[in-house]
Amino acid sequence: MGSRSDKFKVNGRRQILVADDEFINRELLDNILRDEYEILKAEDGETAYEMLTDHRHTVSLVLLDLNMPKLSGLDLLAKMKEDEELKSIPVIVLTSDSNSEVESLKKGAADFVPKPYPQPDVIRARIARTIELAEDRQIISATERDVLTGLYTSEYFFRYCEQFDKAYPETDMDVLYIDVNHFHVLNERFGMEKGDEVLKSIADCLRTIFSPGESILCRKNADMFLVYCPHREEYQSLVEKAATCCPDLPTSIKIRAGVYPHGDKHLDIQSRFTRAKIAADKIRNNYSVSVSSFDEALLEQELFAGQLVDEFPKALAEKQFQVFLQPKFDIRGDKPVLASAEALVRWFHPTLGMISPGAFIPLFEGNGLIAQLDEYVWRGAAEMIADWKKRLGISVPVSVNLSRVEMYDPNLADTLEKIIQDTGITSKDIYLEITESAYVRDSDQIVKKVQQLRERGFFVEMDDFGSGYSSLNMISSLPIDALKLDMFFIRHAFAEGNDTRMISIVIDIAEYLNVPVIAEGVETEEQYLALKKLGCAIIQGYYFSKPVPGPDFEKFLLEKEESPC
Ligand code: C2E
Ligand code: MG
Ligand code: MG
Repeated sequence: MGSRSDKFKVNGRRQILVADDEFINRELLDNILRDEYEILKAEDGETAYEMLTDHRHTVSLVLLDLNMPKLSGLDLLAKMKEDEELKSIPVIVLTSDSNSEVESLKKGAADFVPKPYPQPDVIRARIARTIELAEDRQIISATERDVLTGLYTSEYFFRYCEQFDKAYPETDMDVLYIDVNHFHVLNERFGMEKGDEVLKSIADCLRTIFSPGESILCRKNADMFLVYCPHREEYQSLVEKAATCCPDLPTSIKIRAGVYPHGDKHLDIQSRFTRAKIAADKIRNNYSVSVSSFDEALLEQELFAGQLVDEFPKALAEKQFQVFLQPKFDIRGDKPVLASAEALVRWFHPTLGMISPGAFIPLFEGNGLIAQLDEYVWRGAAEMIADWKKRLGISVPVSVNLSRVEMYDPNLADTLEKIIQDTGITSKDIYLEITESAYVRDSDQIVKKVQQLRERGFFVEMDDFGSGYSSLNMISSLPIDALKLDMFFIRHAFAEGNDTRMISIVIDIAEYLNVPVIAEGVETEEQYLALKKLGCAIIQGYYFSKPVPGPDFEKFLLEKEESPC
C-alpha cells in the first residue's frame, strides 16, 4: 500500500468531488476550495457515482447534495457503503433539512454542512479535518491488519488481548501458537504465490474455527499464527481440520500448535505466548505429533538451558569446568591392567553445584559452543598426560570425546596438533572417541576426516557402537582403531536371561576388522566375567571406577607402576 500522499494527491493536491445539481452551488464551493484542492464536479447522482468509480484512488472527500436527480444523495451513500474501496472515502452532506442530517449521518456520512453555506473558513476547516481523520483511520487499519490474511498484526493483536483481559478478567483463556513446519520448503518448491495461498487458506480456516466474536487472531510473521480464545478441552481435531483447509499441502508440510491452556493472566500477554511457543518448539521435529501443551517443567528446562548458555563464557574463563578421568582396563591377561582413560567433563557451577555433561553437551552441540569447551577439555587432558610423564615418569593414553559438529571443522587436526606441541606430548598419547551416530550421516565426509586424523597418528575409537545403527557394509570400510560398545547395548544384553549373542556378533565383527572391543558401562563382576569370556578386550565402568578428578586418578597410574603385567 502506498503512503498517504501517493494515494490521495492529484497534481500534488488532494481531490474533492462536489456533487450538487444546482450550478450555483457547485460554483460557490469551487470558488471556496479551488486554491487548495483539485475539484471534480457532478450535476446528478449517477454522474457522481461514475466519477467516484473512475477516480476511486484519488478522491479524498465527497461534498454531497442530498436532493439530486437520477440518484439521490442517500442512495449514493448507500451504494458507496457497499463498495470496499469507496466506503473509506469520507462524505460531507450538504443540506438545508435538519432531519436529513441525522439520516445521512446514520447512513455513514462523516459530517454535514448546512445550507445556506456558512463562512468559507468554516467549510474549509471542516473539510480539512474530515480528510485528516479519514486518512489517519486508513493508516491505522493498514497496520492493524496483516495485508495478506486480514488477521491482526502482532502489535495490535497484543493490545486487543490486553483490552479483552481488562474487560473480561474472569474468562478462562487459552493461548495458541500455530505454525507451519518447513513452510520455506513450500515457498522454495512451489513459489511464493503458492505459499501465500496456503497462508490465506489457513487464516480463513482459523477464522471459521475460532469465531472472531470470541477469539482474537493474528498472523505474527511468515508462517506463525497466534490465537487467543476461550478455553477448550481439545485441540487435536481443530489442528487436523486446519490442515485439511489446504488439501494439496505436500506431506512434508505440517501444521503444529503449541497450547498454553488456562493462560495465567498475571503474566504479561507476550510471556503467555512465549510459553505456547515453547510447547510448539518441543514438537518441531516430531512428525507424528501436531499439538503440544505447555507445562512448567518445560519452561524450567528452557530457562535452565538459557542460563547455562549465558553463563558459559564466564564459566570457561573461571575454569569451572573440570576434566574427570575414568580408567579403562585391558582384561585379556590374567588380571586387569590399566590401558588408558577417558576424559569426561564436569561443570562445577558456583550456585548449581556439579552439572553432568548430559545437561549441557547436547545444548552446546546445538549452538556451537562445544568447540570451545572441547578444546579446553582436550588441552586439560593433554596437560595431565604431560604432567604424569614429567612428574611420575608414567605414560598412559587418555581418550577425549569429539562431537559430530567438530568433524566438520577444517582446522580440527591442526587444533589437536597445536595442543600436542604446546604440552609436549605425542599424538599416540591422545585417543579420539567419535560417536557412531557421527558416521551415519555424511559418512563419506566423516570417513575422510577420520582417515586424516589417523594419518596424523591419532588412535580413533568408535564410541557408542550399537546405538547408531550403522550398516555392516559401512563398518567394513571404516578407518577405526577400536569399537566401543554402547552402554545400553550391554545393559540390554545382561538385563534378562544374559542374552549376549549380539555382543558376540560385535566381537566377531571387531575381530574381522582386526580392532579391539571396548565395553563401557560395566558395573558388575558378572558382566566383567561374561565379557572376558566372550573375548572383549577392554572394559570401562563403575565396576572398576567412576570417573574421578585428575589427582584421584593417579592411584591407578601408581598401581600400574607397582604391578606391571
Ligand atoms: P560417553 O562418551 O559414552 O561416556 C560414557 C558415559 O558413561 C559417561 O557419562 C560416564 O560417566 C558413564 N559411565 C561410565 N561407566 C559407567 C557405568 O558403569 N554405569 C553408568 N551408568 N554410567 C557409566 P558422562 O560423563 O555423564 O558423559 C555422558 C556423555 O557426555 C558422554 O558419553 C559423552 O558423549 C559426553 N561427554 C562427556 N564429556 C565430554 C566432553 O568433554 N566432550 C564431548 N564432546 N562430549 C562429552
Ligand atoms: Mg566417550
Ligand atoms: Mg560411550
